[in-house]
Amino acid sequence: MKVTYGHMGTLTPIIEMLLEDLGHEPVTPDRPSRQTLSLGAKYAPEFACIPFKIVLGTYIEGLKRGADTLMSGGGYGPCRAGLYGELHNRILKDLGYDFDFIFFWPPLRKPGHFIRQLKKTKAPHSWGYLWRSFKKCYKKLAVLDDLEMLAQQIRPREYKPGSTSRAFDQAYRMMRQVKSEREIKEAGEAARQIIRDVPHDSEKEVLKVGIIGEIYVQLEPFANFFLEEQLGHMGVEARRSIYLTSYARHDVLSTKGDMGSRTLAVPYLAQKVGGHGQNSVGDIIRYAKQGFDGVVQLAPFSCIPEIVAKSLVPQLSKDYGIPVLTLFIDEQTGAAGIQTRLEAFVDMISQRRSRDLGLGA
Ligand code: SF4
Repeated sequence: MKVTYGHMGTLTPIIEMLLEDLGHEPVTPDRPSRQTLSLGAKYAPEFACIPFKIVLGTYIEGLKRGADTLMSGGGYGPCRAGLYGELHNRILKDLGYDFDFIFFWPPLRKPGHFIRQLKKTKAPHSWGYLWRSFKKCYKKLAVLDDLEMLAQQIRPREYKPGSTSRAFDQAYRMMRQVKSEREIKEAGEAARQIIRDVPHDSEKEVLKVGIIGEIYVQLEPFANFFLEEQLGHMGVEARRSIYLTSYARHDVLSTKGDMGSRTLAVPYLAQKVGGHGQNSVGDIIRYAKQGFDGVVQLAPFSCIPEIVAKSLVPQLSKDYGIPVLTLFIDEQTGAAGIQTRLEAFVDMISQRRSRDLGLGA
């Protein structure tokens, strides 16, 4: 099978490796661009959220490059996420593309369906072979998460602007090449070292900002206007509430989600509202308790779960004394507007920090 799939952050090296292990040919998606988004927006229903449109554009690009199979994983309600796999499938079939659609529901939600889809994908390999390949994927995933966190930590302290991002790109390319467990371990160490070697001031005190919100716009830098890098270049250490390993643990291998942040959210929002809406509420509290200087909430325009969370932001900010900037994102959003708002936010939290330290301002 020639398989294409959506691009989301650092997921590519994992899916690529898994597909090759199983004897398929990956039609690896490029990082989405404005063109990808325009393509998706052209054929998506107007009401669809931006992740849907970007992913649709990515699928079209992959099918045009010769993919005969489209692989997708899906969320579930109560928001629209549960409908999106089937909607993508129908739109693309109506456009005349001929492909096989392999859709994975979260395994614990629809175990029978999940196993049938796995069986189809793994054939003719054994379950044991698949399990070993999954374990290897998880190890690579953990290294990639580590590299991202390391880059987030070093970027605001680098001497030469852009040097951490360049080192991260080099480390990422290295991780894409390796396939065996031993190579993953060795390349992981070397990749970490590449980022650690970026000349930086490890003693520098920097502002810390937590990034929360909907998963796709958190994880895909194109969708969030390269927020982590922008913050890093403004001298801010960014941390996301979702990394791929935490998503795998909380949302794929469990039906409960991140119970840590969900429990914190309960006094304000006692039930799940779809997506990561309830988590966003709890994550604001978590970051406030951990002494972060601020939080940026990323929300696709019209994303109901994040709109619900946003409605609680004024109260949470007041109760926990933490500033929160909400960025709603759609295809009309411009990079300049995002940058201006970020700069104003960073300026404000920086003044707050100085004031709290008794340094005036
Ligand atoms: S979580 Fe938000 S962006 Fe994602 S599918 Fe649901 S409504 Fe759309």
